[in-house]
Amino acid sequence: MIKAGTFKGKTIAVFGLGRTGITAALSLQAGGATVLAWDDNAETTEQAKAAGVNIGDLTKADWNDIDELVLSPGVPDKLPEPHWTAEKASAHKVPIICDIEIFAREVMSRAEENRPKIIAITGTNGKSTTTALIGHVLQSCGRDAQIGGNIGRGVLDLERMHAGTHYVIELSSYQLERTASLRANAAVFLNLTPDHLERHGDMDHYEAAKRRIFLNQTQDDTVVIGVDSPEGHRICSELKVSNGRRIIPISGRKSLGHGVCALKGKLYCAQGSKVVEVADLTKAKTLEGVHNWQNAAAAYAAVRSLGIDAQAIGKALVQFPGLAHRMETVGKIVNVRFVNDSKATNADAARQALSSFKDIFWIAGGQAKSDGIEPLEPLFGNIRKAYLIGESGPNFRKTLSKTDVDNKVSGTLEMAVLCALRDALNSDAENPIVLLSPACASFDQYKNFEIRGDAFRDQVNQLQDKFSTASRRESAA
Ligand code: ADP
Repeated sequence: MIKAGTFKGKTIAVFGLGRTGITAALSLQAGGATVLAWDDNAETTEQAKAAGVNIGDLTKADWNDIDELVLSPGVPDKLPEPHWTAEKASAHKVPIICDIEIFAREVMSRAEENRPKIIAITGTNGKSTTTALIGHVLQSCGRDAQIGGNIGRGVLDLERMHAGTHYVIELSSYQLERTASLRANAAVFLNLTPDHLERHGDMDHYEAAKRRIFLNQTQDDTVVIGVDSPEGHRICSELKVSNGRRIIPISGRKSLGHGVCALKGKLYCAQGSKVVEVADLTKAKTLEGVHNWQNAAAAYAAVRSLGIDAQAIGKALVQFPGLAHRMETVGKIVNVRFVNDSKATNADAARQALSSFKDIFWIAGGQAKSDGIEPLEPLFGNIRKAYLIGESGPNFRKTLSKTDVDNKVSGTLEMAVLCALRDALNSDAENPIVLLSPACASFDQYKNFEIRGDAFRDQVNQLQDKFSTASRRESAA
């Protein structure tokens, strides 16, 4: 755990006592702060107490004594409605921060030559894949790389820092909103499409939150920016004029005069007339699709900016073991391949899987995001049939039926898998794909996307067992 020594002597309110909140409270306590930690859920508060957190009832506390509020990133301070702690904080002019800000202050309190390296990653989609990929490449190249933030472990739960540490941190817009002191040696901004608008109000505010990843960067630092969309292009141009830091544009699908780009899966580093092939991503089983090539381009650019050998990076990229729930092949029955893309919780994420395959038996639906599935219409030609689950089912059916895509409201994931498998086996497709890529959040039916993806994987495993037992019996008979 990282001790928050920069908060010594302060009184800090901590609200939201999930794993990250507990770690933040313990880190502040260990650093010498007085902590008042609280949660709306009594059971959660009790668990935190048992873990050694100093509990303080924030409904009764004197907020004049509180220096800062560490508010769990998932708890809103403005939209759709400010949480009561945020209202109290605003009434008493108490700044709202999150664990990333605590971490950033610890890093910045060290002399520059003793600071660890920070590689920060944001974007609407691809954050976790790129974060894991950068961590993997750095570790494969012999660096002490620790991965955390919005993925896996909270940052304060990571090992104590030293000058040789590389912290690879995934950052959500919610975390960035509450972080002011972070200085990323390499800041990766992958892409920006509508998401979380109920919390940010509109795209301008969402973009402003994401752009905080560039705060405090100096001329010694690097920006890696995806330019596959007009937004990325615009942000790249704006950054170029704003200060002299190094900017590396990246693309998963178009050639660049300067930057890192993937063309048909070959990764190139371009510096004017000098273009060098640095990896053949078609050999990377876990990096299928243009979107993953964009992630690989970002990872290459970020790691290379730290001075690591190009060949070593290329070699490590193709050995990436991959992440669960992101276009993860979870099984095969006869010629039907099952792909778990449960992490595709919005239309843009699902777009990637739908454009990576043909003959798709598509399982979609759940709790819909504002843009529904209309933006995916250009890819409907890749879909043989759609199986709709969750509360968005009837609405998605309307969209699909307008465009003649065969579809069925299956309701549950279980039913959808059975129907999709039956139809795929009976189809004339050579390599049919049963794809769970819901374009929706999971909360109407599952606690989170991981549980939804695990349910899909478990069912596929059971069906595989049944099929192999049946075929063994048949061959024995
Ligand atoms: P995040 O952490 O930003 O949610 P993930 O790496 O977990 O991103 O991937 C989530 C989903 O987004 C995946 O299921 C994939 O389909 C899609 N995706 C991954 N990388 C990209 C990208 N670079 N651009 C657009 N979509 C992507």
